[in-house]
Amino acid sequence: TVYLDWNATAPVWPEAVAEMLDTLRHAWANPSSTHAPGQAARRVLVDARLRVAAFLGATPAELVFTSGATEANHLAVLGTLAAAPEGRRRVVMSSVEHPGLLALAARLRGEGRPVDLIPVDGQGRLDLDAAQALLGDDVALLSVMGANNETGVLMPLPQLAELAQAHGVPLHVDATQLAGKQALSFAASGAALMSVSAHKIGGPKGVGALLVRKGQALAPLIAGRQERQRRGGTENVAGIAGFAAACGRTAATLAEDLARQLALRQRLEQGLLRALPGTCVLGHAAERLPNTVCLRFGELEAEPVLARLERAGIVASSGAACSAGGTQPSHVLLAMGLDARQARCGVRFSLGPGTTAADIDFAIAAAARALTPLLAETEAGMA
Ligand code: PLP
Repeated sequence: TVYLDWNATAPVWPEAVAEMLDTLRHAWANPSSTHAPGQAARRVLVDARLRVAAFLGATPAELVFTSGATEANHLAVLGTLAAAPEGRRRVVMSSVEHPGLLALAARLRGEGRPVDLIPVDGQGRLDLDAAQALLGDDVALLSVMGANNETGVLMPLPQLAELAQAHGVPLHVDATQLAGKQALSFAASGAALMSVSAHKIGGPKGVGALLVRKGQALAPLIAGRQERQRRGGTENVAGIAGFAAACGRTAATLAEDLARQLALRQRLEQGLLRALPGTCVLGHAAERLPNTVCLRFGELEAEPVLARLERAGIVASSGAACSAGGTQPSHVLLAMGLDARQARCGVRFSLGPGTTAADIDFAIAAAARALTPLLAETEAGMA
């Protein structure tokens, strides 16, 4: 099977597995304990923090380890709101954020907290004029993802950082899909807060971090003395060590990996467009991550397409969630102006450092074989 769902999760690097096992075996003690075994675990944690911070262009003190990006996003939003100056209680985010963040937005609204969503255009590009219009002196936080997980469309972070600064509003960037897909520097980003997740770069699931710029007010979600009082609970030392190993492994070949993935993604796009008439690339005119493409095969719903692809040996995914009532349209594609029917059709292929040219050539041929009859059926049905 060819795995083309790296945006959902990446296979765990052998280096990360080895370092996690080593930590579980030899540094299993509580890093808060003052005895020698505890201090051995503490040293693993300190070392891992240095390596993760270096990968992200941050200082070790700016790093708060969490259970992943979803928790980091919650800490950024709720922690900023709880510590915001009087009068600043509105949150502004994009309409294409990760479902976890949009669920939090819905919850805040239910509690009477104002949340405004910045629209995107037909290519998935953020509307900067609308962002500017939504900012004001009652805003506690601007939260925008670095790149969209479904389409790979990049958000205009330098411009957002400038806008946020002009309004005295902290900018939070959910950089979960940026890490490992471009060189990342928290220091240079202009963001006050940034979320990342280990499992998207070949680390374990259940580990991530929120980067918090020095001086940024933030109330903890989980009280306790760990992580400089910003996140209580005994640290996931082995998971954090695996995160650090994944950072190191990813950084070692990042530049060449990205160039290779971009070439392979373009080959995949062109191959599919040529082999399957009626195919369109969603967000084709926007700047996108090198590894991600979201396609629509005519009016074919994603669910049967993904099932056929998997039988043909290709694993991909869709932003449209299946539920009891059938396939729900993707909120990202709806925000891009697709109608409800088309918004159920997005199929995402995401590549990674392990993807080869042979994988891509196999995927093009297998997709052409698997989907041509399906396209013919729907055409016959419509005729
Ligand atoms: N934010 C974005 C943009 C994502 O793509 C993901 C991945 O699912 C998340 C947040 C959630 O990350 P985690 O699985 O670490 O909670």
